[in-house]
Amino acid sequence: MNHQELSKRLEMVGRFVPENSRLADIGSDHAYLPVFLALKQQISYGIAGEVVLGPFQSAEKQVAKNGLQGMIDVRLADGLAAISPADKIDVITICGMGGSLIRSILEAGKNNQQLTLQERLILQANIGEALLREWLQANQYQIIAEEILEENHKIYEIIVAELSETAVSYTKEELYFGPYLLKTKNAAFIKKWQRELHQRQQVLAQLKVAKTPQTEKITEIQAEISMIEIVLN
Ligand code: SAM
Repeated sequence: MNHQELSKRLEMVGRFVPENSRLADIGSDHAYLPVFLALKQQISYGIAGEVVLGPFQSAEKQVAKNGLQGMIDVRLADGLAAISPADKIDVITICGMGGSLIRSILEAGKNNQQLTLQERLILQANIGEALLREWLQANQYQIIAEEILEENHKIYEIIVAELSETAVSYTKEELYFGPYLLKTKNAAFIKKWQRELHQRQQVLAQLKVAKTPQTEKITEIQAEISMIEIVLN
């Protein structure tokens, strides 16, 4: 692979990895991200963690093809079981999964002491980003950067967080839309939330004509709609 083969999404994730980092990429189908960063000499060491055999083997092949066996270890493991404090990992990337799966990987990693809590977390969920922000807040991680971008008609959010010395508190809107994304409201952000608004309006219309009363669900979705409308206006 070369730098042109990496998706715009993963390339953006890579921009948040500091020079000389020791990186663990969890759910590293093909190991594209660690290989790209190792070839650029942006990381000094990488772990590609994969729980499924096929993607694990693809990751091994990609690392071997690029002659990076001495620099990237490919490990077959569930979530953060791929790393231990002895690896001295300072950046963890978890990308391309649902928010609830990423959250459960982080929670298990914390409970099993696989996280030292000193690592920078770079997270890209395909859905359910608010669940991640809630986990970060509950675990005293400060969001230090966010990005939103469109690639192949899909819109992706990237969240970068580090442990804070003090309690972290976000508003309901910051958890839902992202504290940094809310400030910039770029074109991808507007597009995402216009789509989300449209979807919710359709769901609301269906709920209103449902045979059984859906009062609670209607109230919930109306609240979301008005929150999105306020942000878009
Ligand atoms: N991270 C890459 C990206 O963003 O392009 C690959 C994303 S791919 C859609 C998700 C990968 O995560 C799959 O290869 C899947 O096997 C892996 N995965 C899912 N759950 C996992 C877990 N608990 N531990 C490690 N890998 C996991």
